[in-house]
Amino acid sequence: MSASRKCPNCGKWSRWTQNPADRCEHCNSVLDPVAIAREQAREERREEEKKRLSINFIEINPDDAWYTQFFKRIGLGFQIAFVSIISFFLWLIALLAG
Ligand SMILES: [Zn+2]
Repeated sequence: MSASRKCPNCGKWSRWTQNPADRCEHCNSVLDPVAIAREQAREERREEEKKRLSINFIEINPDDAWYTQFFKRIGLGFQIAFVSIISFFLWLIALLAG
C-alpha cells in the first residue's frame, strides 16, 4: 500500500508506507511523530506490566542458618503456590473468554 503524507516539518508531500518510522524524502524528519509517540507509550506500558507481573523469588543462600533456610523455604513454597494459582486463574479466564 502506497500513499503520500504531508511532512509536518517542511510541508512537502512525501511517499508514505503507513510505517510510523517513515521519514520525509526532503528533510528526513519523521512523517508521523504521533504514531511514534503512541508506539513508545505502548512499549513502556508493556514493560511496566512485565515488571509488575514478575515476582522476585526468595533466594536461599547456602550460608544461611538452618532456621533461616527453613523459613525461606516456606516463603518460597507460598510464592510458588501463589504463582500457580494466578496462572491457573489466567488460564481459566482465557478458557472462559474463548
Ligand atoms: Zn520534510
